[in-house]
Amino acid sequence: MGEGCDTCRLALSLPPEANKNYRCTPSAVIRFAHEDGRSRFILIDAGKTFREQVIRWFPRCDVARVDAILLTHHHADAVLGLDDVRDVQSHDPVSGRIMPLPVYLSATCMSYVAKQFPYLAMQPDPVTGNTPRRVSSLDWRIVEESPHVAYDIEGLMIRMLPVMHGEDTVALGFLIDNGRQRIAYISDVSRLLSETEWQLTAATTAVGKKEEVEREVHPRKEIDLLMLDCLLPWGRHPTHMCLPQCLVVIRKLRPARTLLIGMGHEIEHESLNKKLLRLADSEGIHVALAYDGLRVPIIL
Ligand SMILES: [Zn+2]
Ligand SMILES: [Zn+2]
Repeated sequence: MGEGCDTCRLALSLPPEANKNYRCTPSAVIRFAHEDGRSRFILIDAGKTFREQVIRWFPRCDVARVDAILLTHHHADAVLGLDDVRDVQSHDPVSGRIMPLPVYLSATCMSYVAKQFPYLAMQPDPVTGNTPRRVSSLDWRIVEESPHVAYDIEGLMIRMLPVMHGEDTVALGFLIDNGRQRIAYISDVSRLLSETEWQLTAATTAVGKKEEVEREVHPRKEIDLLMLDCLLPWGRHPTHMCLPQCLVVIRKLRPARTLLIGMGHEIEHESLNKKLLRLADSEGIHVALAYDGLRVPIIL
């Protein structure tokens, strides 16, 4: 909170529920109806404000529990709420035990998390299903940092999108890709890797390197919704995209709709959002700022 900063003053002037400048760490919950008729809830990241987000937004957005977690990377704004996950875990109705919650993450992220939370990194006991202490019970699932593999996560097909988050760190974005909708979430990125950009680029026929074509013969439709990291309204930053780089990506990929996420206090919501909305008329691109508590209904 900077002294004399208009965005921070606005962020503190109204309750968070009615205030688009009050921002917790970037996160999302994908809620969808599974084939079995029950809703599923997939959480992306549990950062340092996870507990606050759960208390404020889960009841308002009808998030009943968490069925799986996707982690983008190992930084505090993505993983430091993992200890609080216990409070949203399901319990076995008969035994009352905490049901182990699948967490999808890269091998690199796992190695950092194991140091940050050694007591959470232990796999649940195969017999009792419980970890030794009364802590989050997490079932770690290491994923490949490749956009060519689609994982079935609670019945939803999701691809990993490796991206550079600073030149020394690979973070993951995620692409829901179920044949009807292509929804991408990339919260921590300074540069797209070529194979990720390839996966996000629409193609009417399978084109690409021979080995890519063999792995993936289906044409790729345009991205229906892109959620993209945008730290600053100007310039460049070593570990995050800023608006100029976001616009380059959006103009190239032409997603049907883009929501910018992860903004710093240099971005005041209403003033920049107004400018972004004008891009629909001037360039035919649909870009807006996301905000805490935003719900985006999509027919998956
Ligand atoms: Zn500020
Ligand atoms: Zn980070």
